[in-house]
Amino acid sequence: MLGVHLPVGEASRLSRFTFKARQAERYRHGRILLAGDAAHLFPATGVALNAGLLDAVNLAWKLAADVHGWAPAGLLDTYHDERHLAGARTMLHTRAQVALRRGHDPAAEALREVFQELLIDEQPLRRMGALVAGSDIRYPMPGSGGHALAGTFAPDLTLHTDQGIASVAELMHAARPVLLDLADRPDLRRTAREWDDRVVIHTAKTDHRPADALLIRPDAHIAWAASIDEPADTATPALREALSGWFGTPR
Ligand SMILES: Cc1cc2nc3c(=O)[nH]c(=O)nc-3n(C[C@H](O)[C@H](O)[C@H](O)COP(=O)(O)OP(=O)(O)OC[C@H]3O[C@@H](n4cnc5c(N)ncnc54)[C@H](O)[C@@H]3O)c2cc1C
Repeated sequence: MLGVHLPVGEASRLSRFTFKARQAERYRHGRILLAGDAAHLFPATGVALNAGLLDAVNLAWKLAADVHGWAPAGLLDTYHDERHLAGARTMLHTRAQVALRRGHDPAAEALREVFQELLIDEQPLRRMGALVAGSDIRYPMPGSGGHALAGTFAPDLTLHTDQGIASVAELMHAARPVLLDLADRPDLRRTAREWDDRVVIHTAKTDHRPADALLIRPDAHIAWAASIDEPADTATPALREALSGWFGTPR
């Protein structure tokens, strides 16, 4: 290709890399847990590392909960349920990329042209961006009451706190569950305090709050959200159920 001879010397490390489309049927089998390339191989570039890191972020806090003895029954199984679903989504769009780059016949050229036209508009572009980044995934959240935010990746809101301006991302640096009270709800803070050896409670204000409170897991997915002005008699038992379901029995 280059028209010159390239001398190949002693290799210090050899590996092979080809496109594959494979996903393990189970990410967990007892004490065996699969993550990263061991769990999935995709047929397009630029996504495998992200997918593997998100597996690790999903699994790490659940393993820690198990090691520290507060994991509720079934917590480790949610690793398979959530990340297998995410792997299937990644397989979906990487397979679509295979179809997009395949062939130079008029039909293949037309498909690429139509796709390119679609991505000029901001809304489909954002949607594709979220799909490729894996940030559009919505995990099933049993017991969440079905709030639109439950299961989604927490929005990175700008927060006004007593200590100044912060972001949701900064609150997650401690890698611990967070109850984020956005509407000064002492009823919800009082409920979460029974778990305060595990759950960090923050009170803040934000413009256009999406909910009265968010219960955020250490992997930044929302376990439960209180609707705006949701009365205490429905919100506190629902919060208690979500706290027990994800973070075990209270202190
Ligand atoms: C050339 C190339 C380009 C890439 N480009 C991109 C890119 O642009 N974007 C992207 O997102 N991804 C890219 N990837 C994919 C990305 O590198 C992998 O998805 C990622 O490294 C997988 O991480 P992992 O920890 O799951 O597995 P690995 O990084 O493969 O780690 C597995 C580790 O386990 C060790 N191991 C294996 N067997 C044993 C054993 N029996 N005992 C102990 N240790 C063992 C291995 O030595 C290795 O260190 C690329 C990969 C290659 C090869």
